[in-house]
Amino acid sequence: MKIRINFPTDILVNPIIAEIILETGALLNISQAQIDSIHGKIIADVPEDQFNAIKNALTSRGATVNVLDRPIIRDEDECVDCGACVSVCPVKVFSFGEDWSVNMDVEKCIQCGICLAMCPHGALVLGR
Ligand code: SF4
Ligand code: SF4
Repeated sequence: MKIRINFPTDILVNPIIAEIILETGALLNISQAQIDSIHGKIIADVPEDQFNAIKNALTSRGATVNVLDRPIIRDEDECVDCGACVSVCPVKVFSFGEDWSVNMDVEKCIQCGICLAMCPHGALVLGR
């Protein structure tokens, strides 16, 4: 399952990810990380059966954890396969098929919302 971890400024100096891997034994597959001097955000895949242990280990250190379980939804009646979404998605949810239709792999979606504004037909919404 995909999760988003946010770190507040005051704990950025600590090696939190290393600590929680050692504490829980869970392997995090980090797909995105944005860390600067004031904020940290990580997108990771974690084993579902270890989610609670990982969440507890993170929140006890001051991080917040959100499950990314509402991926993008496309209104097939509105989509015209223009491809505007293909180039903007940072995790390559969209791709052209052999017939130049636009395919989706929603399992990859990290709910960043970037594609919503790019779709000229308003065919995309985040899951509710
Ligand atoms: S919300 Fe973000 S990750 Fe999901 S399909 Fe759109 S651009 Fe890609
Ligand atoms: S940008 Fe919108 S209309 Fe164009 S391919 Fe993507 S979902 Fe379809």
